[in-house]
Formats: sequence, structure tokens, C-alpha cells
Amino acid sequence: MSEITVKQFADVVGVPVDRLLVQLGEAGLEVKGEDQNITDDEKMKLLSHLRDKHGKGEARIGLAAEPKKITLKRKSVSELRQTGSAGRSTGRGAPARAAKPAHTVNVEVRKKRTYVKRLPKEEIEEPVEEPVIEEALPEVVEQPEVVETAPVEVAEEKGVEKPVVEAAPAEAAPVAPAPDADKRQKGRKGKKHEDDKKSKYGRKELHVVGAGGSGGRRKKPRKQRRGRVSVSGTEEHGFEMPTAPIVREVAIPETITVGELAQKMSVKAGEVIKVMMNMGSMVTINQPIDQDTAAIVVEEIGHTPKLIKDNALEEDLVMASEAEAGDKEPRPPVVTIMGHVDHGKTSLLDYIRRTKVAAGEAGGITQHIGAYHVELDKGGITFLDTPGHAAFTAMRARGAGATDIVVLVVAADDGVMPQTIEAVQHAKAANVPLIIAVNKMDKPEADPDRVKTELANHEVIPEDWGGDTIFAHVSAQTGEGVDDLLEAIILQAEVLELKAVKSGPARGVVVESRLDKGRGPVATVLVQSGTLKDGDILLSGTEYGRVRALFNENHTKLNDAGPSIPVEVLGLSGAPNAGDEVMVVPSERKAREIATFRQTKDRESKLAKQQAAKLANIFTQMEEGEISTLNVVVKADVQGSVEALSDSLTNLSTDEVRVKIVGSGVGGINETDANLAAASKAVIIGFNVRADASAKTVISENELDLHYYSVIYEAIDEVKSSLSGMLSPEIREEIIGMAEVRDVFKSPKIGAIAGCLVVEGTVKKSNPIRVLRENVVIYQGELESLRRFKDDVNEVQSGTECGIGVKDYNDVKPGDQIEVYERVEVARTL
Ligand code: GDP
Ligand code: MG
Repeated sequence: MSEITVKQFADVVGVPVDRLLVQLGEAGLEVKGEDQNITDDEKMKLLSHLRDKHGKGEARIGLAAEPKKITLKRKSVSELRQTGSAGRSTGRGAPARAAKPAHTVNVEVRKKRTYVKRLPKEEIEEPVEEPVIEEALPEVVEQPEVVETAPVEVAEEKGVEKPVVEAAPAEAAPVAPAPDADKRQKGRKGKKHEDDKKSKYGRKELHVVGAGGSGGRRKKPRKQRRGRVSVSGTEEHGFEMPTAPIVREVAIPETITVGELAQKMSVKAGEVIKVMMNMGSMVTINQPIDQDTAAIVVEEIGHTPKLIKDNALEEDLVMASEAEAGDKEPRPPVVTIMGHVDHGKTSLLDYIRRTKVAAGEAGGITQHIGAYHVELDKGGITFLDTPGHAAFTAMRARGAGATDIVVLVVAADDGVMPQTIEAVQHAKAANVPLIIAVNKMDKPEADPDRVKTELANHEVIPEDWGGDTIFAHVSAQTGEGVDDLLEAIILQAEVLELKAVKSGPARGVVVESRLDKGRGPVATVLVQSGTLKDGDILLSGTEYGRVRALFNENHTKLNDAGPSIPVEVLGLSGAPNAGDEVMVVPSERKAREIATFRQTKDRESKLAKQQAAKLANIFTQMEEGEISTLNVVVKADVQGSVEALSDSLTNLSTDEVRVKIVGSGVGGINETDANLAAASKAVIIGFNVRADASAKTVISENELDLHYYSVIYEAIDEVKSSLSGMLSPEIREEIIGMAEVRDVFKSPKIGAIAGCLVVEGTVKKSNPIRVLRENVVIYQGELESLRRFKDDVNEVQSGTECGIGVKDYNDVKPGDQIEVYERVEVARTL
């Protein structure tokens, strides 16, 4: 065998390059990188090293191999059900063929393979097969047409035993495919020359199914099929050599089980499990894995992953409706009124409704439907009139940006109050322009300048001070200034150039919904684009139905509603959630399909939600009356921090919710802490401490909410924000990698270098780090050096060894952990 590079060698033996490099290093071979050539001598050295390491004759995963001689034995028993035609389609790996249409035959294959090392150069393999066939029924079995399949893997590259041979009986052994279906498929399996393999794991042969992906299901001439199974007497054992690797596109949904993924690639689940094992995770056949992981597995096996979004169905719809869409036309602005309690939001909304809504026809009674529309000389305005910030928050939580302009009501006699500031933050985060309605101007103690000054402190600068925020002085009681306010809204809307497509199927958002005794589910929908018509099929969340009637806020029946128009809709199967998206779909069948899909998904996420308090949705839970106490478990590095945090968090208690410290202490988060949190549905806060492995298991099993902090203020701020439904902090810490210190080398020049194994994620040189000892942060700083062998590198992946030098810190000990983190900006969306 001529010289090959380390990388090629890794491919050949089916181990990750990184691992091979480590092993070469351990064997005392100087290898600089994956592109360096490796000589046969070096291979032999590696072999004997591995042999010493793993013990004699222990041929197991890894590069372990007996250099002199290795014998692998396996016995496999399977049942072969024979029926007439199936009897002929024995495929690859099927050892026997029944003579007659028969019943069940037990096939036992005893396989022995011996690898003999001769010269440093060659290792010869002598496959021996002893199929023993026992009949279950008194049927005569034809001369077993045994095919040795596995040696192809090994025959090409001698020198090292391949890990696959031992690890995967499913593949290496000439197992008789038992179920009929399996057999049928196998009958068409092609066999592929190893040189064509790209997969690191050296088992590409398994996914070369038939010719051309799903096309392989098509019938092939029987002759050819049979030809493949017959023993040809050549080294190739009669297998045809496909001319090119078959690369298929494998569609991967957002989650998929190991078994499903294997099926999609037409490989055995064991194959996928093995690949994942090599990636460092142990999975079972029924375990769901995420899309990213699945994509990696698909690539490893040599196919092309195609990521599919779960909402592909919905996206198709969106695309369809957008394709139909015509030109955009101007639309009225949608306004949300916000402000501190008692500053006059309701009064203002009522005043406008009372005086501006054309109430004539329906007898002057306006209905509260959650939104109303006014038509003025200069244009229309739609107000969302759900009191408080709830609607805004709900829509923000669901990512629906229904509001174009926020009118912030500030009582001139009271000035800027906490909820005023909160509203400013909401609007800013959502990138929605503000108009300030300085209310209660009729009151003698009204002081609008004070309002201006106070708001200016929060970067809301009035126009007359050189800023861009319109301030309107109004009185919701007398109506003074309200027209100016409305005009300001229209002016602002013009600046925004709000437009929407008017034709085509409608899309919008649910503003409010309820179950009406007489009329059934009633939802107020704000149409955002297209036109909603009576008789349309509407879908929102998991609810759908044919629109039976449309009403406006005057209870006047409408035939249709265009962009920015709120309408009450009858005909849905149930009351959808406020903030949910609404869309018209082409058919009831399509609606049902998507609704059912969402239901399943919902159920799953609801299950998770019920289990424990989560800071992220605590406000919603409070509002829905689900919780009135937020239980917290606090663990910190020192007693001072435990006390400071416990006190501050307890003090965040409000009338609506009490913050209760159910557990606290110094040190890492252990299993007891996690169990306590699970039992009391508590949020866990770790201040400069981390959860240990068993705690992590409990946390993930119970889907507990775990938060790490290193600044007390940040911990308090986040809990506080969640309690008030405010936006959570913009900056968040994310642990991106973890390395375990295995050994420490001290050098007088460069200090301590920690020989580490990256156990999670990626260690990046440029990122800040913390040193943890027994899950407690003992040092925070940065990396001085990061090395793989002798090379400086920028990052090291999980499962890889590396040398880490921590800047200005030489106290690292074996057993310590080095955590690499990142401060990430969290997008604040409305
Ligand atoms: P909200 O909590 O922001 O919805 O405030 P409300 O609209 O319920 O108003 C709270 C109180 O302030 C009520 O008693 C209103 O009558 C009063 N109010 C609202 N606007 C004005 C106003 O412009 N002038 C005066 N004098 N009182 C007002
Ligand atoms: Mg109110």
C-alpha cells in the first residue's frame, strides 16, 4: 500500500480524523495535521500502540487490532419466511434460498473471520462462513447460496481492522433479512466498492440501495438481481461495482427519530446509532434528534440533507397567497393606546369611539369587539382597544406586529410612571413610533412641561425640543385636543407610508376571541392584507372554519373587510388565541390538515409548559391566574451572594405574585436542588455555579427553568422583568463549550497548560472563559493559548483533546472544567 494522508487513512479505517490524530499522538508519532502522509511503518506503530492500549485480541471500536491475527466470530440466527416469488429475490446478505414456496426457515450463520498480519504492509483476511440452516418445517432447503458480503469492507484496506465489523452485526454479518418487506428491499440493494466511499464511517455500502435513490424501488430485471447474489468467485464476491456513489437528498423535519431517519436513508437504524456514537452521543432507535444533528448524520452517511420546516405546509400557503397578491395600496394605521393605570386610556378610547365611530345605523350602540375603526376626513384609523398592555404583550409574544403607532397616554397631573416607561420600552423594542397624549389637561394641576421633561429623560424628545415625538395635549373628559391627536396620528401614518395588498386571500391577526353562548366562538380579526370575505375558509392556530358572518364594531353585517379593518368573525371551530395569526386557506381539507398538525405540536409543548414555572412565561401564567407564587431555588458561589440574591428576589414580590425562595445554598447545583425545584415547580438560579451532571438530568427530565448569572443585578433584573411582563434583558450569556482538564503541565516560561478534552460544544480561543471547580466558578478570564498538538488553533470541537493555557491563571487542576461562553444579543421582537 502506498502512502496516504492521515485524513485518507482515517476515512479508510472509519474513525474521525480528530480521533485518529489523537491516537497517533498517543502512539508517539509526530503527525502535524490531517494532510500529512502516514507511512506503513507508522501505521504499524499505531497498531501496536492501540493493541497495547486495548489489550490483546480485543478487537473493538476504535483502532484496536491485533497485529498478528485476529479472529472475529459471530453467530446470527434469523428467520426466513419463504413464499413463492420471494424465494428468488434473496438479496445481498441473504444466505439461503428456499427451493419451494415454503414457510419458515431458521437460518443460522456462523461467521468467522480471521485477519492475519503478514508483513508490515499487508494484512490478509480470510473470511470463513459456515451457514447452518435448520428447517423449521419439513421443507427441503436448496443448496444455500451463501454470499459473503462483509469482506468487501475490509478487503480493500488492510492494515487495521475496521470498527464497523464488530460494532454492527446488522451490517457486517450476512444476516438473512427476516421480514418479507425487508427482504424485498434488500433484494435490490447494490453493492459498492469501498473506494467510492466518502463516509468517514466506512459504511457507505449500506446506503447504495438499488440504482438511484427511490428509483431503486422500481423493478430491475430479475436476472440482474440474481446475478448480484450469486457467488462469482472473484475477490469481489460477485458484487457489481456501481459506477458512482448514489447521493440522495434526504428530507429532514425539525425533529425526527433515529429509526425514521435511518428509514429515510434506507439504512439500518444501527447505522445511524453508530454514526451518532462516533459523534459522541448515545442514542436509541426511538429517540428523537433535532434537525441539525440529523443533518450531520445524513452528511456523514454520504447523502445530502434537506431541511424541512415543520410549518412547510403553512409556508406553502403564504407563498401561494403572496403569489396571488397584487399591488400594495395605502392602508389606515393601527393604533394601540398604552399608558400607566388611571392615566385615561379607557376614557380616551371611549371618547373617540363615542364621537367618531359612525354609530348611526345600528342604533348608536357600539360593541366592544377589541378594536374599532374610525373614518375621518383625512383618513381612517383603527384602534386596538384591549385595555392595558396585555394585548400588546400577547401579540409581541406571538411575534405578531399588529400595531403601527403607539399612543402613550400620560396624565398631566401625574407625570411619567413605571408603566409609562414600560410602554416606552415596549414601543422602542418593537420599533413602533410613539405619539404622546398628555391627558387630563382640563385639570388645574396639569403640568405638561413636567411630562415632557420626564419623558425626555427616557429619550422621548418632543418635536419642539428638536426631537421627533409628537406631543398632543388632550382631555379625554372634555374632548379638548382629541382632534389634534387624531390628526397627529394620520400625519404620522403618512410618514410611515403604510401599505398592504388589498386583493387576494386575507391574512391577519386575532385581536380578541370568546365563546358566545348563542353564537358560538367569536373572534375579532384584524385584517392585515388581502380581503376577508363571508364564506372564506379561515384558519387560526388550531381552529378553523367557514366564515358564517362578519360584523363591525357597530354590529353591522359586512360582506368583506380589507387591510387594517377589524371584524368580528363567526364560524370558527373554537376560540383562537389573541395574537394568533389568521389566514384564509383554499379548502377546508387544507385547514384541517394544518390544524391537526398544530394540535399535535401544541399538545407536546403544553405538556412541557405545565410542568414548571418558566421566567419567560411567568407573566402570562400570572395573568391567566395559573400562578401567584414564583418559587425559586438559589445556589451561589459564596454565602454573601446567596443572601443578597435571596433578599433581593423576595423583595420583588408584588400584589399579584410572591417570590418565594424554596431552597438556597452555597455550591454547585446538585441533584437534590434539582429535585426540590421539580417538586416545587421552581425556577433555578445559579450564581457563579453550575449544575452537575445528575442535576442536569433532573432538570431536563422535568424541563425546569435554569438560569446562570454572574452579575447579581442581572439576575434580579431578569426576574423583575419577567414578573412585570416587560422585555427580558437584551444581553444573554450562552455557554458554547466545555472542556475537562485531564492533566496539567507546568512550564516556567508559559505557565500552566491544561491538557483538556472538550466534552461539550466548541472551545473558541477568542471567547471569555470561566474555570469551574466542582461546579463553582473559581476564575473568570480569557484564554492565553489553545493548541492541538503543536499547532495553535482557534477552535476545538467536542470530543477532541487540546491544550489550554488560561491567561494570568496558573492554578488549574485536573478535574477542573473550563467553560467557554459568549454574550449574545437577544433579538427583541414585537
Ligand atoms: P385607564 O386606567 O388608563 O384606562 O384610565 P381611565 O380611562 O379608567 O381613567 C381613570 C380615571 O381618570 C377615571 O376616573 C377617569 O374619569 C379619569 N379621567 C380620564 N381622563 C380624564 C381627563 O382627561 N380629565 C379628567 N379630569 N379625568 C380623566
Ligand atoms: Mg382602563
